[in-house]
Amino acid sequence: MNMIFLGAPGAGKGTQAEVVCKELNIPAISTGNMLREAVKNGTDAGLAAKKYMDAGDLVPDEVVIGVLKDRIAQDDAKNGFILDGFPRTVPQAEALEKMGVQIDKVVEIDVPDENITARMSGRRVCEKCGNSYHIEHKPTKVEGICDACGGNVVQRVDDKPETVIARLKTYHEKTAPLKDFYQSKGKLVSVPGTNGIEETSKAVLAAIKG
Ligand code: AMP
Repeated sequence: MNMIFLGAPGAGKGTQAEVVCKELNIPAISTGNMLREAVKNGTDAGLAAKKYMDAGDLVPDEVVIGVLKDRIAQDDAKNGFILDGFPRTVPQAEALEKMGVQIDKVVEIDVPDENITARMSGRRVCEKCGNSYHIEHKPTKVEGICDACGGNVVQRVDDKPETVIARLKTYHEKTAPLKDFYQSKGKLVSVPGTNGIEETSKAVLAAIKG
């Protein structure tokens, strides 16, 4: 099963993707994590992406599409995957179609803007494996250390309040139109993302299986 998790920054896509990928034994593919890794390693894609990421803007379609295309060609993605943070524009969604990628379900995790800024200030991410945490709702067992891989858990530079506002604006302008795009294809299911992590996971799994 090939799925897309759609939602504003901080809606919980990464957290829910971690839960669902374990349950279904398919990889969660986060273009944000891959781009952060590329920036860290100083690759061509990373060099092209950094200034956009720091400003809370979208990285140009051709850069992200290239990164994604290589990732979904890997063996572990043959039996399905969850895309977290891709597509973020209609041209990216069209690029998936051109690649011949069949999408089975698009799960929107719906969180109103007013909840997002508060959430983002507590969000932390493992700089090694990309797992996401929250200082209140999903703390690490040992402060600052990833439960999964032992990497350092840090605040993302683009989670500062002013960048979050820019990212939300970008989401509404460029990414939210994907709801209509997938609704018109009968693929969109929407679940509320405001009821806590476990409740949201139940709703997401029900939406996927339903
Ligand atoms: P995320 O971790 O999904 O919040 O992504 C972090 C940042 O990476 C975004 O604010 C964008 O700058 C960039 N990014 C991630 N995925 C995409 C995408 N599909 N298209 C364009 N930019 C992206």
